[in-house]
Amino acid sequence: MDVLNLIGGRWAEGEGEEFADTNPARPAEMVARGRFASAREVERAVAAAREAAPGWAATPHHARAAVLLGAADIVDREAGAWGAELAREEGKTLPEAVAEVRGAARILRYYAGEADRESGEIYASPRPGENVLVVRKPIGVIGMITPFNFPIAIPAWKVGPALSYGNTVVWKPSSLVPLLAYRLARALTDAGLPAGVLNLVYGEAEAGSAIVEHPGVNAVSFTGSTAVGRAVIARCGELGKPVQTEMGGKNASIVLADADLEHAAEQVCLGAFRSTGQKCTATSRLIVASEVADELLERVVTRASRLVVGDPLEAGVEMGPLVSSAARDRVSAGVVRAVEEGAKQLAGGAFGDREGWFAPPTVLDLPGTGVEFWHTELFGPVLGAVRADGTEEALGLANLSDHGLSAAVFTRDLGVALQAVQRLEVGVLHINSESAGTFPYVPFGGTKQSGFGPKEQGRAAREFFTQTMTVYLGAPRERA
Ligand code: NAP
Repeated sequence: MDVLNLIGGRWAEGEGEEFADTNPARPAEMVARGRFASAREVERAVAAAREAAPGWAATPHHARAAVLLGAADIVDREAGAWGAELAREEGKTLPEAVAEVRGAARILRYYAGEADRESGEIYASPRPGENVLVVRKPIGVIGMITPFNFPIAIPAWKVGPALSYGNTVVWKPSSLVPLLAYRLARALTDAGLPAGVLNLVYGEAEAGSAIVEHPGVNAVSFTGSTAVGRAVIARCGELGKPVQTEMGGKNASIVLADADLEHAAEQVCLGAFRSTGQKCTATSRLIVASEVADELLERVVTRASRLVVGDPLEAGVEMGPLVSSAARDRVSAGVVRAVEEGAKQLAGGAFGDREGWFAPPTVLDLPGTGVEFWHTELFGPVLGAVRADGTEEALGLANLSDHGLSAAVFTRDLGVALQAVQRLEVGVLHINSESAGTFPYVPFGGTKQSGFGPKEQGRAAREFFTQTMTVYLGAPRERA
């Protein structure tokens, strides 16, 4: 399958280097191919987005919403086929991949619904006959840079609000997952999106940085690793450009002594191993009350060892490969280092014992929080456990991280749950469910080194994708 760049309403092969998108379960198998956009093409994409911006902003919100609804119908109709493509290019299992595609359609519908909701505020004025209006306007051209791990859902949760609120977009998806980016952009143009409103440019870091740097890009929405996100924030700061970044996590699940241990073990394993641990909200740290630690770990290890790992398209497979050889090498090296630092490997095994970028579901009993594993996001199916004495210590350990994306707490005690709400430094907290998972209608994003700027999803998205204008609307004086 050939994928194309979209610039100013024209689909065209890029002028840059050729790239190949391969199946991480069968690296010899090509999923898609194409060419990166050249620097000149990124320029043209920004120019096209600028040219389209006034017309799109002036298009009635309901007409913009109609395009999103049309695209959502296409995405839903194709969910089975595109889910299989997603599984082949990214490596998550087919059911997860199909659910992601359907999730993208749902997100587009949610943001189409913004046309029906209130979009500003009105205040009284102390001056006779005057009202104060707060109106929301688009920002202009949004630069979007997206990661590999949700090839259609994350782009949809940026494109949806950006377009609904009247912005135009230049989007660089991860070069590891070009096919689903192409599918989403096609759905939008097939649904009637005017030329130049969305521009898709393939490329790597250089293209991302060209978008950040371009003076014609008014704001940047980035999702990816903390290292790249911080560089994007720094540069946008220098350029005085609004920026929103959703970045890495080192998410903890806390299992307290009164928890339902079978349920907790099941949820911890879902959080750690679903999507091969390649979710920003995946559970990678397990903090367990000392009294129940051995019992819980035994249940977790039993589940981890029984997981069916294999080709994500095969029925019954519960965990696919990592996205690339580089990812597999990074995760494998992280496990080796943890063991060298004193971790006991309770579940896991050899990396690289079969074709494809597979990693075994791995559980480590950590010697403490001083090890590199505790502080570094590995982004793979690896769970590291420590023991805690009491709720206070467990919550303190969870906060012992530069990251603050999500956490899960397992307890039957409502008071303890409320204590966790007070104490934990995260953007998303699950009580008695796994650390991963989001609903499109509520805010999503992290604190500390996991997120910067306004949150995404739900109505929170409009804080980034719109700007307010405060209008003092005085009544005209009567003619004399
Ligand atoms: P990544 O390596 O940081 O890449 C993210 C995007 O940035 C890609 O499109 C990448 O392009 C591009 N990029 C790389 N260097 C750049 C630069 N110097 N300037 C501008 N753009 C640049 O992240 P990833 O490996 O794709 O995704 C995994 C990471 O994302 C994990 O850390 C995960 O926790 C995080 N994540 C966070 C959230 C959240 O909502 N908090 C959600 C999902 C993922 P290429 O890769 O094509 O070179």
